[in-house]
Amino acid sequence: MESEVIPVPPDTEYVSCDGGDPVLGHPVVWYPLPTAPGAKAACWYCSRVFVRGT
Ligand SMILES: [Zn+2]
Repeated sequence: MESEVIPVPPDTEYVSCDGGDPVLGHPVVWYPLPTAPGAKAACWYCSRVFVRGT
């Protein structure tokens, strides 16, 4: 599965992921996003990667 990269605003503390699809998605999960610019958090369910903006 290819990893989809999701950019998030620079002031984001937590990101939520539900897989992005009501049928093929997964239960909503939240991940803390490290504070460093460009920090990443990967979803354990669907492998989407959230990247903090700068
Ligand atoms: Zn996910």
